Amino acid sequence: MTPALLQDGWQLVVGLEVHVQLLTSSKLFSPAGGALGRGGEPNVNVDVVDAGLPGVLPVLNARAVELAVRLGLALQGTIAARSVFARKHYFYPDLPKGYQISQFEQPIITGGALVVEGRSIPITRAHLEEDAGKSLHIDGGDSTFLDFNRAGTPLLEVVTEPALGSAAEAAAFFRTLRTLVMALGVCDGNLQDGSMRADANVSVRRPGAPLGQRVELKNINSPRFLAAAIDHEAHRQILLLKNGTPIVQETRLWDADRKESRSMRGKEDAHDYRYTPDPDLPPVLVTQAELERVRAAMPELPDARQRRYQALGVTSADAALLSADAGLARFFDEGVGLHNNAKGLANWTLNEVLRVVNERGLEPDEVGLVVSAAGLAKLVKLVDDGIISGKIAKDVFAVIAVDGSDPQAVVQARGLAVMKDTAAVARALEEVIAESPGEWLTLLEGKAKVIGYFVGQVMKKTAGKADPKDVHQLLERRRSRDLPPSIDRG
Ligand code: ADP
Ligand code: MG
Repeated sequence: MTPALLQDGWQLVVGLEVHVQLLTSSKLFSPAGGALGRGGEPNVNVDVVDAGLPGVLPVLNARAVELAVRLGLALQGTIAARSVFARKHYFYPDLPKGYQISQFEQPIITGGALVVEGRSIPITRAHLEEDAGKSLHIDGGDSTFLDFNRAGTPLLEVVTEPALGSAAEAAAFFRTLRTLVMALGVCDGNLQDGSMRADANVSVRRPGAPLGQRVELKNINSPRFLAAAIDHEAHRQILLLKNGTPIVQETRLWDADRKESRSMRGKEDAHDYRYTPDPDLPPVLVTQAELERVRAAMPELPDARQRRYQALGVTSADAALLSADAGLARFFDEGVGLHNNAKGLANWTLNEVLRVVNERGLEPDEVGLVVSAAGLAKLVKLVDDGIISGKIAKDVFAVIAVDGSDPQAVVQARGLAVMKDTAAVARALEEVIAESPGEWLTLLEGKAKVIGYFVGQVMKKTAGKADPKDVHQLLERRRSRDLPPSIDRG
């Protein structure tokens, strides 16, 4: 995708900072529950370290470092042998220490890239940091409540270069990153729970001109909202510039309901945060041996999975769809393990099964709620073995998708197997011929276009259970018999 120009020849430039919540069982610096401990009653998932009590010391969660390294390797970034935690100072009620522990000058990951729809988007850096708590403004009241359950939850903030050229491309980056972190087991990718939140830095310029003044849109938790917010901001900036009003560097909050943004605060520069190395935490050291251990334990990535599916005979478009969702891919892999027809299983999964998944408002990784991989594999095998036709298989699927029954049992109970009794099929054909003398003459005159009519009628008479191949054969034999000798049989 080459970034398109906006109205009147303006070019959009976007850089993203995506906060990925790491899937650890405890927080970044305390034993309280991590991502798994969120939700529920307020302030139950809080340790003295997260509450910022004086005199307590943070202890780094090794698992969080491992997950950061895993994502860093997948992005082909450089993993720092030594990185440093820093204090980022600002005052906010849900930040009890008065500073957030983050990484500044020496992040754990630098460089790398993410390929988004064929375009390589360079990554500037990714650093570890702790999340803040939540301020709750209860409607109607004039009080603010504080919930520290989220305080101290581990985040990896992935920062891109200002290299995204459209709102759609920024949304695609978010989606691709989500697929990747879920495949890696680095993050649960749960958007409702805010497991991934993006800040979008947006500016516009004339092509070839230096970067324009940027505005930061904070805390956007879905690809769709991200695209809407960026689009809206780009048009706001163009309108200002057309009127000769300079853009001010600021942080704006996107209101997804009203589809508008409002200014939150003037954007600080780095020096406003008075970053200083955190004296309570030693540098993070990652040895070559640790790096190799993480590398060796890396799960299969979506790209590699797509190539593997193509090698099994699945089309590249289907392979891309199947490999994009880890849960869907697991379902497919299980099916292929039971019945060796990847192409057939891919068709069934993407057409029939996903249709029902969508109808029921499920997510692709909930595919198992519609049908088991074993059930689908058995169904496709029944078709491949010639026991049922593809058309009947759709009826059987409709049954097993509702009650989870065994496809073989459904075929037996309902007498749906293909008629092996060709005599019975031949009788059905005779009936059709007797009922359609005109069409039969047309066929004898060599007009092949009525063949479909006869096959269709026989299928109808046999409730779809005749094998169309048999019908074609019988029809051909029957036709030669009726042809008078004068008609050319070639
Ligand atoms: P911070 O926002 O924390 O001050 P940076 O200055 O490093 O951090 O920039 C953060 C993000 O802003 C990066 O993703 C970067 O690509 C993006 N960015 C910087 N300048 C611009 C610009 N002029 N237009 C769009 N994005 C920009
Ligand atoms: Mg920022």
